[in-house]
Amino acid sequence: MNKIFGIDLGTTYSCISYVDEYGRPVVVPNAENERITPSVVFFDEDNVIVGDVAKENSKMYPEDVVAFVKRAMGDENFYFEHEGKTYHPEEISSFVLRKLVGDAENILGEKIEDVVITCPAYFGINEREATRLSGEIAGLNVRGILNEPTAAAISYGMDSEENKVVLVYDLGGGTFDITMIDINKDSIKVICTGGDHNLGGKDWDDALIAYMANQYKEITGKEEDILEDKETCQELQLLAEKVKKTLSQREKAPISINYEGERAKIEITREKFDELTYDLLQRTVSLTDEMLNEARKKNYNSFDEILLVGGSSRMPQVEKIIKEKYGIEPKIFDPDEAVSKGAALYGWKLSVNDELVNRISLETGQTPENVKQGIDENKIEENIVEKAAKQVADDTGYTLSAVKASNVRVVNVVSKSFGVVTYNNEGKEVIYNLILKNSEVPAEFTERFGTHDENQDNVLIRVVEDELNDRVIDFEYGKEIGQAELMLPENLPANSPIDITFKLNEEGRLDISGIEAVEKREVKTAIDTSSVIKGKELEEAKERNKNIEVS
Ligand code: AMP
Repeated sequence: MNKIFGIDLGTTYSCISYVDEYGRPVVVPNAENERITPSVVFFDEDNVIVGDVAKENSKMYPEDVVAFVKRAMGDENFYFEHEGKTYHPEEISSFVLRKLVGDAENILGEKIEDVVITCPAYFGINEREATRLSGEIAGLNVRGILNEPTAAAISYGMDSEENKVVLVYDLGGGTFDITMIDINKDSIKVICTGGDHNLGGKDWDDALIAYMANQYKEITGKEEDILEDKETCQELQLLAEKVKKTLSQREKAPISINYEGERAKIEITREKFDELTYDLLQRTVSLTDEMLNEARKKNYNSFDEILLVGGSSRMPQVEKIIKEKYGIEPKIFDPDEAVSKGAALYGWKLSVNDELVNRISLETGQTPENVKQGIDENKIEENIVEKAAKQVADDTGYTLSAVKASNVRVVNVVSKSFGVVTYNNEGKEVIYNLILKNSEVPAEFTERFGTHDENQDNVLIRVVEDELNDRVIDFEYGKEIGQAELMLPENLPANSPIDITFKLNEEGRLDISGIEAVEKREVKTAIDTSSVIKGKELEEAKERNKNIEVS
């Protein structure tokens, strides 16, 4: 059976797992024998070093090191220049993937080709596409892009027999995700999702860094800002993370800041740290409340459990505020590894399911696509499924129930709204959302619009992504992500009907079609992801990757 590995491509740390012969997810450590690898990339002349060594080098060689690149995924304006070469976020992430995959291949002694990579639930189309391309550049076959909270819920809900509604509070290194998930025996359904992709452990570090720099000024009486010095800044970054982690275990932590021969020694208490970062923590609470309001609209008025994932949820302040606010004891669940393990379980389900589908396809003579659809719609006879499942179980050594459970449905919601730019009655540009945030995917919606002018020769369909949940919103809240042009017949009066359909598939691809009602002319287009690496640059990145050694 084809093994599909699960990769948590994190902002600060990444992790790779697979499912063993007993159906259990197992993390593969890296060459340094660590289970998680810092997502930090160090350009060492012609080659690349990823992980702890890269992180350590950030102090000495800040110009050669890139970190937190996940925050720039899908951002067309971000690139890293190094020795006359330009690297896009996709390519930098591909080095992280290669480190994980390369080390795992060495340890397991087998080639890794197929992977499922996770991303935050609120990643939009461009960010997901960028994540997929990172895998492609690294030479991998990306079988799926899975939402991180869904992955965590899969690894958490695997053995669960009871139905429950779970909130996944995922505070990572650079991102915060809050997701409501309905876990049933045969389906894992995302109800609502919210979050902020610029809120994470790094912000807690930054608050500490600012505090330390100020304390340095106070203690030494010096006026200069030590953060202006790049090396000191990197040093404080590493120090801040260490201090923060210490404060997760102890009530206070010593800090020693050295700068130009001057040393400032201070002690910080957990209480002070909590005070410095109170606003950040509160922001996670308001985002949670916003999400709960959305869930209420879908008749989900309560939840059974809160699951804390993401490294930063280890800060005691998180557990404390959740108890205070929601009166519930949160479960701290495998914060570093749950996402990668969940991705591996999902990948495993995909491969077991592939096997099952192939057997049924051989047995019935139907194409695998038809079989898949048949299984989803419960149209394949029970005894045929049973027989195929038994065969797969016999051949793979997995239990029959595990093989049958491979059919668990993962239902996702869309994390953004998608709409078109149109005009309101006052002639002002507004956005009309065709697919609303938190709709189940796949999603499809058609709306009739009218042409603007008489004898208009074309309609430019300007596609927008936004965070709001209303049909009509102000133009300024949206981000244009692509365009499609519909040619019109001649002499149409103003306000001639145009039907626009948006179709979003499970992988997050948006197909758009527009039909004008007179000659039924139609344009169909998949959204052209505007801010990811493509064309010549993509080919160059793939080619360059082959010649770069990653360790
Ligand atoms: P993740 O993206 O889920 O790997 O989370 C990484 C983030 O968790 C980083 O910002 C780490 O500094 C933070 N983190 C990891 N362990 C701890 C800890 N014990 N206490 C506080 N923060 C932590």
